[in-house]
Amino acid sequence: MALLQIAEPGQSSEPHQHRVAIGIDLGTTHSLVAAVRSGEAKVLQDEQDRVLLPSIVHYAQQPNQIQYGDDAKSFLLTDPQNTIVSVKRFMGRSKADIKFQHPYTLLGSDHEMPTFQTTAGEKTPVEISADILNQLRIRAEKTLEHPLNGAVITVPAYFDEAQRQATRDAAELAGLKVLRLLNEPTAAAVAYGLDKDSNLAIDQNYVIYDLGGGTFDVSVLRFSQGVFEVLATGGHTALGGDDLDRLIVKWLKEQLQIEELNNEQYANFILSAKTAKEKLSDDHTINISLEKKEITLDRATFESIIQTALDRTIHVCKRVLRDAKLTIDDIQNVVLVGGSTRSYAVQQAVAEVFQQEPLCTINPDEVVAIGAAITANQLVGNSKDGSLLLDVTPLSLGLETMGGLVERLVSRNTAIPVARRQEFTTYKDGQTAMLIHVVQGERDLVEHCRSLGRFVLHDIPPMTAGQARIEVTFQVDADGLLSVSAKETTSGVQAKIDIKPSYGLSDKDMERLLVEGFQHAEEDKNLRHLQETKVEAKRELEALTQALTVDSDLLNQSQKENLDHAQQHLAKTLETTDIKDIEQAIETLKLHSDEFAALRMNRHIDKALSGTKLDDWSNSSSE
Ligand code: ADP
Ligand code: MG
Repeated sequence: MALLQIAEPGQSSEPHQHRVAIGIDLGTTHSLVAAVRSGEAKVLQDEQDRVLLPSIVHYAQQPNQIQYGDDAKSFLLTDPQNTIVSVKRFMGRSKADIKFQHPYTLLGSDHEMPTFQTTAGEKTPVEISADILNQLRIRAEKTLEHPLNGAVITVPAYFDEAQRQATRDAAELAGLKVLRLLNEPTAAAVAYGLDKDSNLAIDQNYVIYDLGGGTFDVSVLRFSQGVFEVLATGGHTALGGDDLDRLIVKWLKEQLQIEELNNEQYANFILSAKTAKEKLSDDHTINISLEKKEITLDRATFESIIQTALDRTIHVCKRVLRDAKLTIDDIQNVVLVGGSTRSYAVQQAVAEVFQQEPLCTINPDEVVAIGAAITANQLVGNSKDGSLLLDVTPLSLGLETMGGLVERLVSRNTAIPVARRQEFTTYKDGQTAMLIHVVQGERDLVEHCRSLGRFVLHDIPPMTAGQARIEVTFQVDADGLLSVSAKETTSGVQAKIDIKPSYGLSDKDMERLLVEGFQHAEEDKNLRHLQETKVEAKRELEALTQALTVDSDLLNQSQKENLDHAQQHLAKTLETTDIKDIEQAIETLKLHSDEFAALRMNRHIDKALSGTKLDDWSNSSSE
């Protein structure tokens, strides 16, 4: 079967011209860079032969005195406020999203990405990540002695649009041309050549098990017709090698019969535990010297010590497999990623649950960067084996829903070909037609996006509002051609439209749509909330009017007046954009309409009961 070869839009792959591109794993605890050299993907070292750059940046008062990685480590103890670690956890997050503990002073409003207050001034997570990426870019330029044609940066599969956009911005700020953001598990699969499996006619499913220093991620990927699709992801944001170290410390305390450790002892114990754990990946038994005593630790004991942590990861694996609607037999390969998977006990546990030997021949700290480098090399047109390139949708695709809002079906950067299906329903009783308006862009309001086309689904059988089931399918083929179809599931009526998206956009327009989407994210969120509230309120008013035509006799004069007044007041506020007023008016209306609803319910229960009685006595269907 011929594999898809799709060039990145705007990128021709001229022959005979070697281009240099890099892959970067921008990690929570470590970052690194790799590139394909003489046909082989290799990690790049710094001047001191180090591959892993700890993702730590220390900002000093002098603007030019920034320390990175190992050089910044010592400041963690002496100057924690200005020494930023794990900045990845802050990327694309609003201040309100950040619920974990950290030693930093964050500035900015709750709904914005925060800035760190440092002695070198205010720094956004994007800038700090850019500083890390910049180091890696400099390293690559020095080692490769060639101008860079672009970079592939990896991101966790669960990263949302805002987190991806923040990563992209950081890379651009660091002077890198982003060829693509690649999911970390996909990169790991590419590193093992799982996209080159000889048996490509059949869909392949892979599990990527990533146990790092502080986080655990597991993803199920499907490789189908030249494209990796993420079927399901799961994990723990606070479960990793650090937890294994803590469990060993607990055991050590028991062995030495020590109840409490002072800070200095604790630091010492943690260090010994980490060293012991890492040594056990090579040796079967090791000795730990602490408090003037020697303690022996073997693999079997280590395994039992960390069993609770292992069990938690296995539990997540099983859940993710269920989410992907697969069983163990459906999994062709399991790939190990992250430093902690060097432990024999971890490999054993994974092998046992998936009933197969996991792939771990490539250094698990490096495998993601290696896969990114291979992809980068393909994207600049260097691969000779005619292998596939994956392409992605450059902008999000969605359709208009009530209130002029956009419902996104296919997010930007989704690998194509792709199909996404979602159910919609009718807004009014007896509605027999539905307008499907297809739009493209990152904004929440239709008016800010680009309209791609519209069509009408006719002949929907009349039903109560909300009952019809309209299935809308978006399909983007390998050439980026979009077709949208809508089908009412009970009657089977359908309609369809073909649209040529995105490539009709100039680079300038595309950039504008992206930039606007990013700049207006906050504003859009508020507008969306306003529009959704308005739609809900209108629905409420409509339902109430209906109910009143049937049951208004249940109300006395003053109840009627109150309800009428509340209705009119809400209708009036709906003409404004004051969300507080509208919410208030909804509350007031609710107060009166709840009373009415209770009366109606009583009446209908009475009716139903009397109906039963009659039916009990005779077979007559009359009430
Ligand atoms: P992250 O993905 O979070 O940046 P890494 O993948 O670099 O983290 O993993 C770091 C973790 O791997 C640490 O907890 C470290 O102790 C552990 N680790 C490193 N080498 C080994 C080894 N040889 N055996 C077991 N664990 C190891
Ligand atoms: Mg990692």
